[in-house]
Amino acid sequence: MKIAEIRSKTILSSSQVYDYVINPYVGCQHGCSYCYARSMKRFTGHREPWGDFVDVKINAPELLRKEITRKKKGEVWVSGVCDPYQPLEARYRLTRQCLEILAENRWPVVIQTRSPLVLRDMDLFKKAESWQVGLSITTADDRIRQIFEPKAPPIGARLKAVAELHDKGIATYVMIAPLLPGGENLVAILAGKVDYLILDRMNYHYADAIYARYGWREMNSDGYFSAMRRRIEEECRQRNIDCRAAY
Ligand code: SF4
Repeated sequence: MKIAEIRSKTILSSSQVYDYVINPYVGCQHGCSYCYARSMKRFTGHREPWGDFVDVKINAPELLRKEITRKKKGEVWVSGVCDPYQPLEARYRLTRQCLEILAENRWPVVIQTRSPLVLRDMDLFKKAESWQVGLSITTADDRIRQIFEPKAPPIGARLKAVAELHDKGIATYVMIAPLLPGGENLVAILAGKVDYLILDRMNYHYADAIYARYGWREMNSDGYFSAMRRRIEEECRQRNIDCRAAY
């Protein structure tokens, strides 16, 4: 793993998903097999495989303090092309410091992570207004997780984290994206401990070799994703959970 401390030029960037996005790191230690963010390597010049490098934007909080005064208030996504709670965050606390600034200035925030390290910042979530905290959980089966995202935290730890956030009254969502085999069982396992779900199919080809190796091509097809969407939407309807399908 190649880790470099860098000084970035900006931190609060415009986004097509929310108003802004903050990425305190370039690269992601989780290195998920299907991750679209690997395409960024074209712009950053990294030659290492995706998941084997991280640039740490050590001036992120300093930049945010300046940029937040110059930009119109809007919803901030943390993060788009890295996990804001990847293991290095325990040491650098850049996500934490950026969130403190956003909270002080009362900006709305949407957090998205695969890591239970997010629970460390519960004190901020409890105080903040209009914040949402999401766990990305792609399958209910940890054996499937180990195949597609072996360096990301176990499914059980993510489910526990989302339940704890929900129990503490934080607005929570689960991002089933991309829907992996076994993802269709998540609604039942969540047992209502979530405010809403976002569902998306596999949209990229980076993990095609895995589907082929295990004979799972059918579970990466239009027919499969349509059937699973219908099933998940129906289960959400029965439990009164808002389900936002992106396909
Ligand atoms: S955690 Fe997110 S950003 Fe990191 S490798 Fe996985 S999908 Fe990509």
